[in-house]
Amino acid sequence: MFGEKIFKQFVGGETLKETKQVADTLEDYNVKAILDYGVEGKEGEDNFELATGEFIKVIEYASSQRNIPFISVKLTGFARFALLEKLDATADSNSGTDARLALDVLNETEKLEFEKVRNRLVKICEVAAKNNIGVLIDAEETWIQDPVDALTMQMMEVFNKDKVVVFNTIQLYRHDRLRFLKESFEQAQIKQFKLGLKVVRGAYMEKERRRAETMNYPSPIQPSKQATDNDYNAAIEFCVSRIDDIFLIVASHNEFSNLHTTRLLQKHYGSLHHKNVHFSQLYGMSDNITFNLAKAGCSVSKYLPFGPIKDVIPYLMRRAQENSSISGHTGRELGLIKKELKRRAELDYRKI
Ligand SMILES: Cc1cc2nc3c(=O)[nH]c(=O)nc-3n(C[C@H](O)[C@H](O)[C@H](O)COP(=O)(O)OP(=O)(O)OC[C@H]3O[C@@H](n4cnc5c(N)ncnc54)[C@H](O)[C@@H]3O)c2cc1C
Repeated sequence: MFGEKIFKQFVGGETLKETKQVADTLEDYNVKAILDYGVEGKEGEDNFELATGEFIKVIEYASSQRNIPFISVKLTGFARFALLEKLDATADSNSGTDARLALDVLNETEKLEFEKVRNRLVKICEVAAKNNIGVLIDAEETWIQDPVDALTMQMMEVFNKDKVVVFNTIQLYRHDRLRFLKESFEQAQIKQFKLGLKVVRGAYMEKERRRAETMNYPSPIQPSKQATDNDYNAAIEFCVSRIDDIFLIVASHNEFSNLHTTRLLQKHYGSLHHKNVHFSQLYGMSDNITFNLAKAGCSVSKYLPFGPIKDVIPYLMRRAQENSSISGHTGRELGLIKKELKRRAELDYRKI
């Protein structure tokens, strides 16, 4: 019962069809949807092929709807985690930006396996490009992220020439990511493609810190929340001031970061809306931000996961952890809801 409530709060439904009702309601308020097919932690070539087919179905479905401009993709939905980990372990740090991968560390079977991963991603991007749907590649754990970045940069180089189809995700809770963002931009300029970026703080902080401590290497995470916030806001500033060459998705529930972006847009371009800027919050969280941005004329969406309950559990676990560990946000949101209910009750009372 409790699980069912949590599922309904954060998930759009078990099937693509079930997301329609939610997406249609969002559309009534000028809010778009980003569909996120929730496959996590499933291994095996058969599952990877199935997931690829699902991603393609989601893209085709999105293109038939008015308010679904993007879908999100996790590379681990169709690539073996250990294969990515092996590639990452031997990569130079930040090799992701120049899109090179040291494939010679793989044996012949693994090379073929990796080729299949690349082909799956190419297929997804091709269908997306044809249907004018953006593909947002999620950022995951640091120990697999280099090959994810490298593959994403390769796809951007092919598909982001005339329009932006492919987006990488930058996690600013990592102390090296502001530099990575700047290097990605340099590469995009050299290779003449547009950078698609979803900018987030990062969802795996405890896990990252724990692993670094257990395995005795320096933590990749910023020393404090303030350091993360500083880099996040600096990343937004960097992107907004180069907005003709970057498509920016501000993916955050942080009120200041959202407000900061709108202020920068107003200051530089005289409007809160820019064709290369989009805002997004997770479904079930920070409605006060989403609906106010929509009301102000910004392009904004809800990130809408869907899938069978058992498949979206890792996603729900992250949300549960986030909502219990983030100081202030959830409490503040509840406070806002109570205040609004009181205001409406008073309005009704006065009418009597
Ligand atoms: C549309 C959308 C897509 C997303 N996609 C991804 C994705 O692909 N990959 C991914 O990893 N996450 C993703 N996330 C989740 C995101 O990374 C954050 O976990 C979540 O949004 C909370 O951060 P915030 O900016 O919303 O708000 P805030 O509440 O201001 O920030 C909380 C975040 O700050 C960081 N933080 C908290 N305490 C500290 C500390 N002591 N030291 C350093 N940093 C700290 C952590 O990242 C924490 O999650 C996505 C979020 C959204 C809204």
